[in-house]
Amino acid sequence: MKVLVIGGGPGGVISGLTSAKLGCKVVLIDAKPYSEIGHKTCGDAITLGPLNLLEKELHIEKPFGEEVADEVRQLKIKTQKIEFAFIGDGYTLNRHIYGQRLLREAEKYGVEVRPETKAIKAIVDSTGVKGAVVKKNGEKESYNIHAKITIDCATAEITEGVKAIHATEFIKD
Ligand SMILES: Cc1cc2nc3c(=O)[nH]c(=O)nc-3n(C[C@H](O)[C@H](O)[C@H](O)COP(=O)(O)OP(=O)(O)OC[C@H]3O[C@@H](n4cnc5c(N)ncnc54)[C@H](O)[C@@H]3O)c2cc1C
Repeated sequence: MKVLVIGGGPGGVISGLTSAKLGCKVVLIDAKPYSEIGHKTCGDAITLGPLNLLEKELHIEKPFGEEVADEVRQLKIKTQKIEFAFIGDGYTLNRHIYGQRLLREAEKYGVEVRPETKAIKAIVDSTGVKGAVVKKNGEKESYNIHAKITIDCATAEITEGVKAIHATEFIKD
C-alpha cells in the first residue's frame, strides 16, 4: 500500500516511520531543504512520556548528546489567560538536531524523503483523498503523487478540499 506523508516534522516522520514499519511504501515530502527539516520556532520542551513510548513502540532512542539542551523536572505553560504545569522529568531539546535524527530513523525504515517538495492541492475523487499535486522548488511543472493513504502533517490547511481539524482539550484531573 502506498502512503504519502506531507510534512517532515515529528508528526510526519513518526507517521511515515510507523506506516513503513507496517509494510507500506512511504513517500514523505517537505517544502524545506533536507538540512532544514526539523527546524521550527518552538518551546522545545518535552516530557519523558512520549519519548518512552517512541522507544518502546518504535525503538527510537531517547534524545542524547547534542540533541539535549537541558534536563527539566517540570514544564510550565503560560499564556495571557491560563497557566498550567506538566509535572515530571523531561528535556528541552535542540529540536533541529533531534528532528534530523528522526528523519534519518524514518529513512532507515525505507521512507523515501523528497525535500523541497511542496503539496499544493489534494487529488480527490468520489472515494476521498488519493494523493497530492506537488511542486519541487525551482521547477515550473507540478506533478502528482498518487497514494492509497495521504497523511497531512503540514500543520496548515494546504490541500484544497481537505479541511484540517484543530482541536485542543485540557483535561483537568
Ligand atoms: C511558539 C511555539 C512553541 C511551542 N512549544 C512547544 C513545546 O515546548 N513543547 C511541545 O511539545 N510542543 C510545542 N509546540 C508545538 C509543536 O511545535 C508542534 O506540536 C509540533 O511541531 C507539531 O509537529 P508536526 O510534525 O505536526 O508539525 P511541524 O513540526 O510544524 O512540521 C510541519 C512540516 O510540514 C512542512 N510543510 C508545511 N507546509 C507544507 C506543504 N505545503 N508541503 C510540504 N511540506 C509542508 C513544514 O516545512 C514542516 O517541516 C510549540 C509550538 C509553537 C508554535
